[in-house]
Amino acid sequence: MKALSNIKGFLIDLEGTLHIGDQSIKGAVETIDFLRSKGYSIRFITNTTRRCRKTICERLSKLGFKISEREVFSTPIAAIRYIKKSSEELGLEPTCYLLYTGDVHRDFEESGLILTDKNQISWLLVMPAKTSLIQL
Ligand SMILES: [Mg+2]
Repeated sequence: MKALSNIKGFLIDLEGTLHIGDQSIKGAVETIDFLRSKGYSIRFITNTTRRCRKTICERLSKLGFKISEREVFSTPIAAIRYIKKSSEELGLEPTCYLLYTGDVHRDFEESGLILTDKNQISWLLVMPAKTSLIQL
């Protein structure tokens, strides 16, 4: 670990790095445990737009990973932070309308952003969805 002596933390991708689908990658659980035992900060990144952090962590737990929600940085979490910051800078209400699938709306509800009618929004978020844009 001498080569890592200046490193304070790791950003580690989930899908394809720690697991593939419902199968953990060989040695991944042990590697995360080892990095934690050495005191490194770890954040886990994912570009999923369908699952909230709670669901992501529950899924990872079933694969043997001990990862807390606050350690997961997903695309929706990045969007939430951007919207909050930009709303403040632009003087807009942090009101959103989501086009989504899955349970990712939970992260938005817990964030303090206002999910509201599409006629009263500052922000429209379009995430991969079966929902047709024509419905707008
Ligand atoms: Mg990946």
